[in-house]
Amino acid sequence: MAKLQLKNLRKEYNPKTVPIQDLSVDVEDGEFLTFVGPSGCGKSTTLRMIAGLEEPTKGNVIINGQSVNNVPPGERNVAMVFQSYALYPHMTVADNIASPLKIRKTPSGEIQKRINEVVQKLDLEQSLLDRKPGQLSGGQRQRVAVARALVREPEVFLLDEPLSNLDALLREQVRSQLKQIFKSQNKPVVYVTHDQTEAMTLSTRIALLNDGVLQQLDTPHQIYNYP
Ligand code: ADP
Ligand code: ADP
Repeated sequence: MAKLQLKNLRKEYNPKTVPIQDLSVDVEDGEFLTFVGPSGCGKSTTLRMIAGLEEPTKGNVIINGQSVNNVPPGERNVAMVFQSYALYPHMTVADNIASPLKIRKTPSGEIQKRINEVVQKLDLEQSLLDRKPGQLSGGQRQRVAVARALVREPEVFLLDEPLSNLDALLREQVRSQLKQIFKSQNKPVVYVTHDQTEAMTLSTRIALLNDGVLQQLDTPHQIYNYP
């Protein structure tokens, strides 16, 4: 059974905006599903419904066979990475990465162990751990945000345009890091971008969204003839 299922999701904000309509998709462990589509088509809203930051008008978000519609965001076992990093500016990098574990009262030895693991995975220098996010480059900030998502060891990973604020070279570097990291996680990953190259190179499947309607759901090969 799929880890993450979206069942007939609908989201209406108001009569003037196009709603997300009847969106259904299953995402298995180890799958990297990317929602691609123009600005305003409903990609972020879809991720936010999975994270519990928006309530669906209709339909269900199901994790491990259980609807999580009534589970508040903090209690969903889902980690999200945002375009704007969303790091805590007053905390050090180490405290940012540790924050989801501190909230869960994880013992400090275990926190240290997991920080060491993700810092290695993401090629973050030890010397960055004591800095504040304001003293990091964009690429470093986004790696810290990904590290914070990984330490939680969630059931599902969500990434909302994580590369869009990076310049071209960094975008490519962080993209290949993301690909490697999420391959080894073996969890469902749902990714959002308007960039077809990102979608092609990262995804196991692509969901093309237009005006809130799922147009196509298939492999990068079927959609873009890649690779
Ligand atoms: P995308 O991520 O694909 O750019 P969004 O999910 O952000 O698209 O937005 C989908 C539609 O919903 C757009 O028409 C947008 O204006 C509208 N929308 C998004 N958030 C809100 C909100 N909080 N209130 C009202 N309308 C919203
Ligand atoms: P980017 O290409 O992401 O914009 P920057 O030019 O911002 O990169 O940063 C390049 C290097 O300078 C990085 O190693 C970063 O850690 C360091 N750096 C950037 N801003 C600061 C700062 N305010 N204090 C200390 N180091 C910084």
